Amino acid sequence: MRIVVPIKQVPETDNVKMDEQTGTMIREGVESIINPLDLYAIELAITLKEQYSGEVTAISMGPSQAAKALREAVAMGCDSAVLLSDKAFAGADTWATAYVLQAAVRRMGDVDFIICGERATDGETGQVGPGIAAFLDLPAVTYVCRFEDFQDGRAKVRRMVEGGWQVLAVQAPALLTVVKEISQPRLPTLRGKQRAKAMEIPLWKAEDLDVDHGKIGLSGSPTRVVKINRPKVARQGRKLKADDDKTTATAVRTVVELIKEKGLF
Ligand SMILES: Cc1cc2nc3c(=O)[nH]c(=O)nc-3n(C[C@H](O)[C@H](O)[C@H](O)COP(=O)(O)OP(=O)(O)OC[C@H]3O[C@@H](n4cnc5c(N)ncnc54)[C@H](O)[C@@H]3O)c2cc1C
Repeated sequence: MRIVVPIKQVPETDNVKMDEQTGTMIREGVESIINPLDLYAIELAITLKEQYSGEVTAISMGPSQAAKALREAVAMGCDSAVLLSDKAFAGADTWATAYVLQAAVRRMGDVDFIICGERATDGETGQVGPGIAAFLDLPAVTYVCRFEDFQDGRAKVRRMVEGGWQVLAVQAPALLTVVKEISQPRLPTLRGKQRAKAMEIPLWKAEDLDVDHGKIGLSGSPTRVVKINRPKVARQGRKLKADDDKTTATAVRTVVELIKEKGLF
């Protein structure tokens, strides 16, 4: 079974600053991590490889630092990784991102499954996975919470829906996006970390892919962030110390007085 896992490097914090002029994220000086939901995609891919044999390749489109996320994926158990990085890819919207990722998958040849996270914690659109499937003309199953089995090239998967789940059969090659209920991501092993450190990660630029240069990066993106609005938090938080009997009693009294003062009882 040949599996590709697209992973995104995202800022570690929720408090992301935006460039008001360009509508793009300011990533400088912010610690980055693998998009947490992508860890579940990696875990599913590695589990399937262990069960059905095969290989797993992690890919990421991003700046050169995204190689760090790819090494983490290798340390967890992915067999190889490819970084898609080029100035020409910068500022891509979800459409242009999916376009580049699908071109990389095409270059890899036959693939049975592409497994994405349900959404990235920064962009949060959940569009990239289905976008890749659309470009490759593959079936896509989103919100997968269990991979039941794989027989005769057909996977049976459970998909989370409001108030329950659906069981779907899907013919490979297919794209799945997974939710965190699917698995418990494993931690990288020491051996995995050593392998990841030593591994050479190929860098694919725009010229290495069969892409139309008019469809990549900021200029090739059909959507633009035209306005950013940070909602004002109306609530005023207040911290009360309650780490021993005395401060806890004072804290409780303060809360009771506050409730009375606001006329809440
Ligand atoms: C309307 C709009 C306009 C935008 N315009 C810009 C812009 O002008 N400039 C700009 O910098 N950004 C822009 N963005 C943000 C940019 O599109 C996203 O950060 C990026 O394309 C991924 O989308 P997402 O974060 O919503 O990922 P999601 O679709 O939520 O991610 C789902 C899954 O797709 C995979 N995935 C997503 N991104 C990658 C990646 N880069 N590499 C590998 N796998 C990936 C992962 O498996 C992830 O779990 C825009 C977003 C929107 C919605």
